[in-house]
Amino acid sequence: MHVPLLLTDFLDRAVDLYGEKLAIIGDDRSFTYNQLNGRVNQLSRGLQSIGVEKGDKVAYLAPNTIEMLEGFYGVFQVGGIMTPLNTRLKAADYQFILEHSESKVLFVDQELYPLVADVIPQLEQLEHVIIHGSEGDTCIAYESWISTFSDDTFERTELEESDIASLLYTSGTTGNPKGVLLSHRSNYLHALSAMHHLQVNDQDTLLHVLPMFHVNGWGSPFYYTANGATQVMLRRTDPHLILKKIRMHNVSVLHMAPTVLNMVLEAFEKEKLDIQQDVRVVIAGSAPPPAFVKKVEENVGWKFIQVYGMTEISPLITISELRSMDLDASPEESYRLKAKAGYAMIGSKVKVVDELGNDVPHDAKTVGEIITRTNGVMEGYYKNPEATNAAIRNGWLHTGDMAVVDQNGNIEIVDRKKDVIISGGENISSIEVEGILYEHPSVLEAAVVSIPHEKWGEVPHAVVVLRGEEVATEAELIAFCREKLAHFKAPKSITFSEELPKTASGKIQKVVIRKSFWKGHNRLVN
Ligand code: ATP
Ligand code: MG
Repeated sequence: MHVPLLLTDFLDRAVDLYGEKLAIIGDDRSFTYNQLNGRVNQLSRGLQSIGVEKGDKVAYLAPNTIEMLEGFYGVFQVGGIMTPLNTRLKAADYQFILEHSESKVLFVDQELYPLVADVIPQLEQLEHVIIHGSEGDTCIAYESWISTFSDDTFERTELEESDIASLLYTSGTTGNPKGVLLSHRSNYLHALSAMHHLQVNDQDTLLHVLPMFHVNGWGSPFYYTANGATQVMLRRTDPHLILKKIRMHNVSVLHMAPTVLNMVLEAFEKEKLDIQQDVRVVIAGSAPPPAFVKKVEENVGWKFIQVYGMTEISPLITISELRSMDLDASPEESYRLKAKAGYAMIGSKVKVVDELGNDVPHDAKTVGEIITRTNGVMEGYYKNPEATNAAIRNGWLHTGDMAVVDQNGNIEIVDRKKDVIISGGENISSIEVEGILYEHPSVLEAAVVSIPHEKWGEVPHAVVVLRGEEVATEAELIAFCREKLAHFKAPKSITFSEELPKTASGKIQKVVIRKSFWKGHNRLVN
């Protein structure tokens, strides 16, 4: 007999084994797994009452809240497709995504409602808007609405594991967000792999720092729920609030973007906190420099793990936790290893190939593109078969990320194809140059982008945010880079800024920075 892999299994397990355990902590209330399950059942009945059926898209515009997490399971029970929206978009983007996804129902956090207030009347297919909060004006108010439904066991819509669970839009780091369709099976197998590699267990307390609307945060409720962990919600990525919640709830696991972790470390130093012993691990993506990993492990005492992935693959496929062959590395070498994307997680084959599709030599030098065959792969981009066929070729998903591989098979991301700076025929990794800038004590954040150059075609330029009261000049920072890098790799120019443009998940949008320099010029990849 074939038992379908459905994401609701994870909640069932938590209820069976951990019913009276604290499941979820919000700003002013918390629920056990039994209570959470009851509320999920109420929500599913509510969705049924307004006609949500198998395959209908249900959009969510919310920060990390209890209601958002309830949406995951509540929507799946009626066979709906969760379509979470980035909370930092403009009205026109919301209109685009809500129309593109044909969302029938929109759940929106009370505080975020103004973002979509003007868009809602223009959406023909949108039938219901439900506000997360207790007071409704023209819309349904969530709390009073769900309280009218029974919390008894809900008779679920029958599903196949190949049915779509989520429609997630990519970060839009390099252009317009794309809608990614992920099945129950993909999300499920990804969750099993992640919970194994991250050693998720019932003593964990996770602080949801990564937004759950984004794929990095999206998958984590599954693996923490399945293991009966406690999940603490976080509305704002404010570093002081993060530190407060860590202390208040004895948080043991954090997933966050290095840019946010960087702010947390700053706040940590400012508040002169004691080393936080309860945090067993902090998990981050986005190629942090080794100096940064060292700071996290040595100064703060948190274990650091890097993961790599993308929306199209559920998202994670590699992890940097040291394997036995790397265990005798010196501390400095271990920081370098952890700053790499690492090696394939269970359920994913990962290769780095040249333009002909051949594996690059494992010499830590030869650059190729990361391709993967993974259980977590998407069904496709929604309404975009051309883009799907361009991304998945012969069963391998082409990531557009460039990398090298060392002799032990550890993958190191060199850059996104689009961010590589091609100067006089030489390829320069923007990540490598940023890594050097981050070693300078005055540098808080740095982004290195290509700018047009008459002689070399393009050259590296850095935009730098300085730490607090620090001062550093352009000449000083360029000289600093030239000491540690080949001259052609060092930035030719540097500008200083108060902040860098970022996506809601905390990624620096180099495409936005680059644009201002390329007006009137043509760049082959953009
Ligand atoms: P869009 O596809 O809309 O331009 P995006 O690629 O940023 O946006 P995501 O799917 O959220 O959207 O992010 C995946 C990308 O993030 C990867 O393709 C890769 O470039 C980058 N990334 C993820 N993890 C890492 C990591 N550990 N190191 C370096 N880069 C990473
Ligand atoms: Mg992408």
